[in-house]
This record gives sequence, structure tokens and C-alpha cells, in this order.
Amino acid sequence: MNDVLVIGAGMAGVTAARALDRAGLSVALVEGQQRLGGRVYSLRDFCAEPVEAGAEFIHGTGSATWPEVRAAGLHTRPCPLIRHTMFNIGHGTHWLPRILLHPAVWPTFNIFRSIARLEPPDLSAREYVERRGFRGRARVLAEMMLTAHLPGRVEEVGVLGLQDDGVLTLESGLNHRVVEGQDRIVEFIGRGLDVRFGFGVESIRWRPDGVTLTASDGRELEARAAVSTLPVGVLQSGRVRFAPALPEGKRAALEQMGMGPVVKLLLSFRERFWPNWLAILGCGTGPVTLYWPLFYGTRDSLPVLCAYSTGPRAARLAEVSEAEAVDIAVGDLARLFPRADPRTALTAHRRIDWGTDPWSCGGYTFLRPGARGARARLAAADTGPLFWAGSATESQPIASTVEAAYRSGLRAAAQARAYLEDGAGAAQPTRPG
Ligand SMILES: Cc1cc2nc3c(=O)[nH]c(=O)nc-3n(C[C@H](O)[C@H](O)[C@H](O)COP(=O)(O)OP(=O)(O)OC[C@H]3O[C@@H](n4cnc5c(N)ncnc54)[C@H](O)[C@@H]3O)c2cc1C
Repeated sequence: MNDVLVIGAGMAGVTAARALDRAGLSVALVEGQQRLGGRVYSLRDFCAEPVEAGAEFIHGTGSATWPEVRAAGLHTRPCPLIRHTMFNIGHGTHWLPRILLHPAVWPTFNIFRSIARLEPPDLSAREYVERRGFRGRARVLAEMMLTAHLPGRVEEVGVLGLQDDGVLTLESGLNHRVVEGQDRIVEFIGRGLDVRFGFGVESIRWRPDGVTLTASDGRELEARAAVSTLPVGVLQSGRVRFAPALPEGKRAALEQMGMGPVVKLLLSFRERFWPNWLAILGCGTGPVTLYWPLFYGTRDSLPVLCAYSTGPRAARLAEVSEAEAVDIAVGDLARLFPRADPRTALTAHRRIDWGTDPWSCGGYTFLRPGARGARARLAAADTGPLFWAGSATESQPIASTVEAAYRSGLRAAAQARAYLEDGAGAAQPTRPG
């Protein structure tokens, strides 16, 4: 019997498992798929460079994952924003600073500061925008600023949650991309761990003396403690049964969190028709939320665009066939770049739909209005020997990111370790540290 079972081999899982392994505990990491990484998923068969199907950016230069990136010997490229951003809020595609010069959008300038000062009761992003009286361009820009990165509708996203989750700081630092692919970080952390691939957990039985996992093929594993990194979408779906049922606080937290659709369409073209300095193109209207070229405006980049959609826009691109979704995005690019002919320049495409992925059941989480504290309730150590990690269980510095997953893995590993040393499982580690 192992000391600890870690469920899910994404960033949170490998981080927790490695920390426990380093502490001298015997750890098995169980994973339903045949690969490490979860929502960190780098594709190497789409074009000559790795392309990210899931997480793409390291947010900010202070991310806790930077030491791992350096230790793994990986290379990164910065993604300079504002100066390299274009925007379309329904009046042509322009350089972002030019859009910001229009007096109609000036009322939105203090939006982040105003939200940072908001007190309860919570409001939805829609109520906030209406209360501020934003109309026309200001409204489009404000809704984009508040929800572009989140897989929920403006009515579903709570503004106090934006504050607590650090979402509004997402673009305030310098973002980087890992040249070799973001999955190399997870592989580096997961190196040498005992990983049981193809172990899709169907039920988790927890009791004071340990945890038993049952896989969908009937296999069982037991340990004195476990760390769950199951994504919120999987937990909400009911695909994994808990015995006894989870405490009320956790069930309420799961209801208060949204986990909505995110779709990435990868589009490869014969040649580039966007400016070579372009890092990101935000769309206030239209079927796609953001477009960005591989390596964001660096001159040697391949002519590949990622079309990124969240929430209702992603839902629409997910409900049609891939060919139709691509047609919609290419038609949108023709609108955004009227002098180009993206349709005839298209050479390859790929759709990645996280909403229907059975191992995540959604892109990532956001907090609904009134959901303050839900992440802490999901993370709470209130299920005996079963501990909780995953990017949805952390709000610092930015919830639902790779860094949040990493930090949650360290926190849950420390909790499980303390439990085994001091609590019910007082026996010594089975392996010397
Ligand atoms: C399209 C997209 C873009 C993103 N962009 C960014 C970005 O630019 N920067 C950033 O920091 N973050 C980004 N994120 C968020 C980031 O990817 C996630 O928050 C983070 O990777 C989650 O890590 P995790 O370990 O908590 O969960 P996961 O990576 O989801 O890991 C959970 C693991 O559990 C496994 N699993 C699920 N169910 C079971 C089961 N029943 N039995 C066994 N195993 C199971 C899964 O296969 C998976 O491997 C993005 C996410 C998406 C979807």
C-alpha cells in the first residue's frame, strides 16, 4: 500500500506527487489519460513548432513556476502586449492605442481600479456595466475587459470574484511562452515519478484510516492518504462518486463555480496577412474572442494563428462541425482584414474543444456572483485523509492558471504530509527521504 495516491497528472498532480516523493513518502500518481499535463498540452504534429492546445502563457515574471522553467533548461519568448495589440470593437481593426484615443471609451479607463474598490454585495459583470452606464464602444470594451478570458457569460461572472481571483491583473505583467512547449515543465517535474496511466478514477472512498480509488475497469488502489486534483468540471459532472458524499461546503463551492467552454482553433496559412508586429488581436464582437500568432509578432514566426474563444462564443464554435467552425473563423478574419484572402491562404486547421473533453469537462473556472470564498471551501482540508489541489483551489496570484495549479500542489502535499506525520496515519514514511 502506498502512503499517498495523487489523482490527476496535470501541473497540480505532478507538483504534489514530487513534493511528497521528495519527503520520503511512497506515492503513486494515477492518471486517466496516457500522458502527463492535463490542460497543459503541447502539440507537435500541427506545424514545425510546438503549438499549445491548452495553457499557453506564463503570466508575469514573478510566477512561481519560473524556477522550474530554468531548472529544466527551457527557453522562453516574451509576449509584449499593449504596443503589439490590435482591437476590433465593431468599427474596424485598429492598433489598440488608437482605439483608446476615442473619447467614447475613456469612461472605461478606471474600470479595474473601480472594481478593486467594490464592496459586497456582489454584482454580475453585466450589472456592473449597466450600473456604470456604459453604452456603445465603452460597453463592448468593458465587457471584453471583464470577461474575455473567462468561459462564462457576462451575467454569470461575479465582479468580486474577478477581484479575488486576480483575473484583472492577467495582462498587467509580461507574459512568456515556452519555446519547447509548456508540457516540458510538467514532464520535468514529473520525471521519475510512479505514474499509473489509464487509471480513470470512478469512485473515491475515504475514511479515517485511508482512501480507496476504484478505476472504471475495476482496478483498486489504496493508500493512507490521497490528493485529488480532479478538475471542477469533472467533479461537477458526477462522473466520480465519493463515499461518503462530500461535505456541504464543498458541494456548495462546486455549485458556485462556473466551468465553461473554451475552444482553440489552430489555423495555418500559406503566408502571413496580419502585421508582423501583431501579438494579439482582441475582438469585442464576432465569433472569436482573441487571435494570436505563434510567438506573437516575432519576425521568424510561422504563419499560424490561434483563434481563442471563451464562453458563449466557444459554445457556438463547439456545436458545429470542425469544418464549419473553421469556416466561421476564416470568414471572421476576412472581416477583420478586408484586404486579405484568408480562405484561399488556409493550409491546415485543428479544433481543440475543452468543453467536451471528458478529463476536464470545461476550460477553467470562474466565480459566479456571490461565490466569494468558494475556492477556499473547495481547498479546505475537511475530508479526513483526502486533500484538495488543482488550479481551481487557489486564487493567488491568479486563479485557474498553471501557476495556481503548481502552488495548490505544493499546499496539498504539505497538508497530506502533516496529516500523515501528526494525524491518523501517524506511522513513519515507508521509504527513507
Ligand atoms: C485553452 C486553455 C488555455 C489556457 N491558457 C492558460 C495560460 O495561458 N496560462 C495559464 O497559466 N493557464 C492557462 N490555462 C489554465 C491551465 O491550463 C490550468 O489551470 C492548469 O493547467 C490546470 O492544472 P491542474 O493540474 O489543476 O488540472 P489539469 O491540468 O486538468 O489536470 C487534471 C488531470 O486529472 C486527470 N483526470 C481527470 N479526471 C480523471 C479521472 N476520473 N481519473 C484520473 N485522472 C483524471 C486529467 O486527465 C488531467 O491530467 C488554460 C487552460 C485552457 C483549457
